[in-house]
Parts: sequence; C-alpha cells; structure tokens
Amino acid sequence: MNAQKLSKRLEMVASFVPTGAVVADIGSDHAYLPCYLVHKGIASRAVAGEVVKGPYESAVRQVRTEGLTNQITVRMANGLAAVEEADHIDTVTIAGMGGPLIVSILEKHPQALKSVTRLILQPNIHAKAIREWAMRNRWALQDEVILEEDGKVYEVLVLQRGQMDLSQAEILLGPKLIATKPAVFVEKWSREVANWQRVQQAIEKAEKTADNEAKHAELAQLVDMVQEVIL
Ligand code: SAM
Repeated sequence: MNAQKLSKRLEMVASFVPTGAVVADIGSDHAYLPCYLVHKGIASRAVAGEVVKGPYESAVRQVRTEGLTNQITVRMANGLAAVEEADHIDTVTIAGMGGPLIVSILEKHPQALKSVTRLILQPNIHAKAIREWAMRNRWALQDEVILEEDGKVYEVLVLQRGQMDLSQAEILLGPKLIATKPAVFVEKWSREVANWQRVQQAIEKAEKTADNEAKHAELAQLVDMVQEVIL
C-alpha cells in the first residue's frame, strides 16, 4: 500500500469522500488516505491527525515526499483536537480502529464536528458502538458496506446529519447490510453464531450458576436475533 495505491479497505473509505471535500483523517499513520484523496482531486485540502510520534513523523515525511504540504496539514494531536475551526472541515474519516475507540474520539471534541456534514468510519470491530453513538447524536446512516481483505472483515459506515431509529438487530448488524445481505456479511455472522453456540454448549456442560444461566440466555437471544436475519 502507498499513497497512489491504497488497500481495498482504505479505497472503500476513499470512495465515499465527496469531490471537493475538505477532509480530516484522524489516526492517519503515513497519511496515505489524505495524500491519495488530494492526488486524485477528490479532496481539495486535508488535515492528517496522529497522536503517536512515530506515525505522525511518517505522515509528515509522506506529505513532503508527495509534494502536498500546501494542501495537507499534519498535526500531532489526540483525536479531533487536530481540527481547528479555520480548517472548515466538512468530512471526517477515521479508519482502522475499534468501534469504541472511534466513538471515544467523536465524543471527546464534539465542537470539532460543527462544520462536518459527513463521517466515514471504518471500525475493525464492534461497529455496533458507532451505530449507537450515531443514534444518540443525530447522525443517520447514509451507506454501509462490508468487505474482506487478507482474511479480515471490515465495515465502512457513512453518516450524515439526521435522525434514525434502529432495532436491536439493526444496531448490531447494520440496517443497510441487513437490507442487502452481502455474502461476506452472511459468512461473518454465521461464524459469530457458531462461536456463540460453542460457548452455549460449554455452559451447558458447566456448573449451573445464575451467571452461567444469564450468559446462556443472553447468547440464545443473540443467536435467535442473528439467525432471523441471515437464515
Ligand atoms: N487510519 C489508518 C488506516 O486505516 O490504515 C491507520 C490505522 S492504525 C491501525 C491506527 C492509527 O490511529 C495509529 O497510527 C494510531 O497511533 C492512531 N490513533 C489511535 N488513537 C488515536 C487518537 N486518539 N488520535 C489520533 N490518532 C490516534
């Protein structure tokens, strides 16, 4: 992967950035995504935010090597603290982290989202945390995709301002993915159901405690909920 040729995962994130966008990429290790977006003429300007020194320095070097220092500002900062009001950011990308970490970044500096109209979030795990945050904070899913790369499954969630009310199944699995049921989605959740069922079998063989019974019942509910969608 480099700034010209992204991974399939980051290419999917890039595909949702509107032409002319002013982008903040948070957790921008190497700044590949902002460099790609500016090179392709998709983003007009970008901020690359990184909290760790090593990746921050890689991002600075990359932006210099690509000759993009006029269009891309690299800042060492925690999450959305990398965004300044004068940047007029309209699109935020946060990719390659767990859902709960992405949510904590969004929650820590809510004022940085004032001018933002689109969030493109790519959680490696627990996308559910993002859907819950979005519902609580008046963001609505505009799109949702799932993809597999190098044996790993990734989801990309695209949010715009708006209200959405999701059922428990939609929060866990994603309303757009439930509607389209791509093969990768069905495989992911079939594996998850098989894991839960293995845990249930282990619990059935273990001592009957209130905790075990509660866990068994919780898993039974999850299995039913997911099977209803994928079977
Ligand atoms: N976004 C790139 C991608 O998807 O390929 C890099 C993903 S890398 C696994 C996660 C990066 O996010 C790391 O460089 C890490 O230092 C950075 N990071 C984690 N928490 C952060 C935070 N609160 N603020 C800024 N960067 C953060």
